Amino acid sequence: MLALGCGLGLAAVSGMAQAAPQIQGRWIQGGLIVGQIAPGSRVRFDRRQLAVSSDGRFVIGIAYDAPPAAALEVRDPDGTAQRFEYSVEARQYDVQKIGGLPKAMVEPPAEVLKRIADDQRKVAAAREHDTPRVDFANLQRWPLAARVTGVYGSKRILNGVPRQPHFGIDLAAAEGTPVRAPAAGVVRLAERDLYYTGGTLILDHGHGVTTTYLHLSRLDVNLGDEVDAGTIIGKVGKTGRATGPHLCWRANWFDVRLDPSLLVHSEPARKGEHKK
Ligand SMILES: [Zn+2]
Repeated sequence: MLALGCGLGLAAVSGMAQAAPQIQGRWIQGGLIVGQIAPGSRVRFDRRQLAVSSDGRFVIGIAYDAPPAAALEVRDPDGTAQRFEYSVEARQYDVQKIGGLPKAMVEPPAEVLKRIADDQRKVAAAREHDTPRVDFANLQRWPLAARVTGVYGSKRILNGVPRQPHFGIDLAAAEGTPVRAPAAGVVRLAERDLYYTGGTLILDHGHGVTTTYLHLSRLDVNLGDEVDAGTIIGKVGKTGRATGPHLCWRANWFDVRLDPSLLVHSEPARKGEHKK
């Protein structure tokens, strides 16, 4: 059982029990859940107080390695508190062994460590925003039509050494292929030359949901720009530490890494390729 702080008093529910939140999305590692609840309710998940929109929507991201049980603690506008439990599907992730890489690609030289740390701070800050926009509910399109060459969650072993899993989806496309916003959002990061990821964009779709675009050859938007779904935001490239032109597409709920293929309500545009 969860230890409940904050005096929510969940054990002593009295009065009318509220309906369970309406849930869209799958309770699966890497998944995004959009919930609907009575406006004015308060919702907690995993020790985080969630923003609830004026029409009662909230969003949750499920971590790559989330445990099998999840719970929402909901407090009605009238103060009635309840707990709703869900089971989270576990996934099997691929193992990807890549050998023979140049040492400088696997182990950054000492003189760039500060630059890498600065890059990471900027990226982390761009993902902290908790803005009231609800564009996360309209993530329906892929940023481009392409072959999937890398999937979310792959455990990577580079030159025999286990590394952080791959948290993006790699979409192979020719250099210069336009990349489109999958939903409306605001540009939270627009950097032309990050060490690992080169031309990098982060779009904020509200309530902590962001999407990230790596290795771009060109950025077509600036920091703070508002974009609509379908707006061309940049072009495919191989900037940063990339072995060839592709878009590495990522999605987050704050610092929680999500599987972008679980956000969009369709398959990638080209048939016959890897499907999830
Ligand atoms: Zn990638």
